[in-house]
Amino acid sequence: MAGRLEGKVAVVTGGVSGIGLGTVELFVGEGAKVVAADIQDEKGAMLEQRFPGQVRYAHCDVTAEAEIAAAVQLAASEFGGLDVLFNNAGISDMMRTLAEVEADRWSWVFDILVRGPALGMKHAAPLMAERGGGSIVNTASIAGLQAGWGPLAYSSAKAAVIHMSRCAAAQLSPQKIRVNAICPGLIATSIFGASLGLPRAVADQMAARVAENAPKAQPIPKAGMPEDIARAALYLASDDSAFVTGTHVVVDGGITIGGRHSW
Ligand code: NAD
Repeated sequence: MAGRLEGKVAVVTGGVSGIGLGTVELFVGEGAKVVAADIQDEKGAMLEQRFPGQVRYAHCDVTAEAEIAAAVQLAASEFGGLDVLFNNAGISDMMRTLAEVEADRWSWVFDILVRGPALGMKHAAPLMAERGGGSIVNTASIAGLQAGWGPLAYSSAKAAVIHMSRCAAAQLSPQKIRVNAICPGLIATSIFGASLGLPRAVADQMAARVAENAPKAQPIPKAGMPEDIARAALYLASDDSAFVTGTHVVVDGGITIGGRHSW
């Protein structure tokens, strides 16, 4: 049976770790060719070796427009075009309160989380238009929907991603390009350790600890796993969501519904 992304070409930013890695694996399993764009070159090289002919790694810091443009172009030169962009690269920060805000750090958070996806869409859209359309998926967060789930700059940036996805969906609809966001809840990845400034290897080990310490009050009382988000990305990337644009999909084990679940 043909995969749900058979014949499609995707770029996944943040593609060598956590949610991005889970998505690359799922997309490849569904028949896609994928450019994994990230700044962890060793992991990128290993990923290429795991999926010869199906995955190319692009060193791409999403704060650098030229590197984003090059990653997107690699999809065209290597695999013949572009159908799907998953703008997923991300970091967190530790500025919890207004008093802790530092101007440069605030800009850094927004450059990665908001400007990066904007530039990704800018460079991907013309290539998608050449193929008669495409799908863009932006990773937001429940922190962009409700207060209290993340640091201040991070949460504000994720709210911007949700709204930017709506604006882009309206702009790109004439080219048959759909744009949607995903709002993950607590997912067991290394982002938490990385945001504490821990070395990547230590942060990677912490992902397993996150999985063990999921919120007990969550209606589905377990930490989400990267593949939980990857499956939502697959839905939004594929023709299964052909009538869906300008919205966000919440994948959070129900943690944002509020209320108590004692019966
Ligand atoms: P992760 O740390 O495992 O993966 C993030 C990836 O982004 C890493 O591979 C990292 O190298 C890459 N990256 C960081 N800065 C980059 C840059 N400047 N340019 C290119 N790549 C860069 O974490 P994750 O949890 O898989 O994060 C993926 C996305 O999911 C992020 O946007 C994050 O904000 C979002 N998210 C995560 C959670 C969660 O609970 N893990 C919840 C909500 C949203």
